[in-house]
Amino acid sequence: MLALQGAFREHKQMLERLGAEAVEVRKPEHLAGLQGLIVPGGESTTIGKLAREYGIDAAVARRVEAGDLAVWGTCAGAIWLAREIPHYPEQPRLGLMDIAVERNAFGRQVASFEEDLEVEGLDKPFHAVFIRAPAITWVGPGVEVLAYHGKDVVLARQGRLLASSFHPELTGDLRLHRLFLDLANNLVTS
Ligand code: GLN
Repeated sequence: MLALQGAFREHKQMLERLGAEAVEVRKPEHLAGLQGLIVPGGESTTIGKLAREYGIDAAVARRVEAGDLAVWGTCAGAIWLAREIPHYPEQPRLGLMDIAVERNAFGRQVASFEEDLEVEGLDKPFHAVFIRAPAITWVGPGVEVLAYHGKDVVLARQGRLLASSFHPELTGDLRLHRLFLDLANNLVTS
């Protein structure tokens, strides 16, 4: 997982519980040999600036465009993946997923909330923790919506790119990490 800033340690523990080898990515060369990259929650402006400064975004873009890397952005990481960020058009980001992501969409005062989400493909609800979360307010034609909170999209997939508004690493529920490993191992096709 991208380890520039944010909640990457929790993701690492989840991956290790699933028997996957997890690597902390801080430089482009750390991507070598990886099949998947999780971009954690944190502060999307900081993650975006550091990833650009270290050349990680260009290296990730090359691998994604070659069909060679799955990427999962959680919360701030989903903002990093988004083609559009309303009100923050200049914010550095990867920008390869056809979604618009509105930062802090659920109000700055009521910063956090939790909800049992119905997720496409999961038989039981997923307990989701939202922390100053973004909402996915637009999805392109190639994007599959996997979960909603009200009318806002909070989990979506485009090929081997996955974006979630919430923090799936905080509840001990391994199902979405397992789904991502399947994407990274090319076991899920669109
Ligand atoms: N509000 C943060 C941002 O806009 C994201 C919050 C999070 O990742 N928990 O970058």
